[in-house]
Amino acid sequence: GIAVLAIDGPSASGKGSVAQRVADALGFAYLDSGALYRLSALAAKQAGVVWSDELGVACIAAALDVRFEVGLTLLNGRDVSAQIRSEEIGVGASQIAAFAVVRQALLARQRDFALAPGLVADGRDMGSVVFPQAELKIYLTASAKVRAERRYAQLIGRGDAADLAAITHDLQERDARDAARAEAPLRQWPDALLLETSDLSLDQVVEQVISWWKT
Ligand code: C5P
Repeated sequence: GIAVLAIDGPSASGKGSVAQRVADALGFAYLDSGALYRLSALAAKQAGVVWSDELGVACIAAALDVRFEVGLTLLNGRDVSAQIRSEEIGVGASQIAAFAVVRQALLARQRDFALAPGLVADGRDMGSVVFPQAELKIYLTASAKVRAERRYAQLIGRGDAADLAAITHDLQERDARDAARAEAPLRQWPDALLLETSDLSLDQVVEQVISWWKT
């Protein structure tokens, strides 16, 4: 089989940066599964399908025309890399992610990312649902305060407007929704190693993941 390293955790825990760096270091492919939910939310919005329309969004998700290139995400051939990172689309992604039919529509597409020699996948259910056979499963997290500050710095760094109080509120709502939903709820499952990153630098986190992978 193909080696899979699954990294799950809450919003703004740093999963994306860590997973991408670990994938580069190991020469593995990288799956940002959250991007698929964000792309589905954006594509629905563009098509005039409301996020509460479970079947409508599932059809959009199943038919998603998406391409990932280095540093670029293309939807219907158009670069939407910045657009899908907005708070608005993050909220939409978290709403549509609660629907079983939407998750089902994205399942095969996610599994297709597993190519030799291996894959690093980040999300909420990589170890529990999408790649239950993963060799290593990590639950990566940080305190709510640290995660809100990281997201804030990210938005400001991009030149976006950002409000720390609003971000903290959004993160808490999204985490609560991800943890409470019936389908693929976010939690630290017993087979995942806990990596608490509040007091660690990105380099330290990457090092820890790689050292676990190698042992
Ligand atoms: O990780 P990211 O913040 O980009 O994900 C956006 C939203 O998509 C999350 O808040 C979560 O609700 C949903 N998601 C999910 N399962 C995944 C990845 C993301 O439900 N594997």
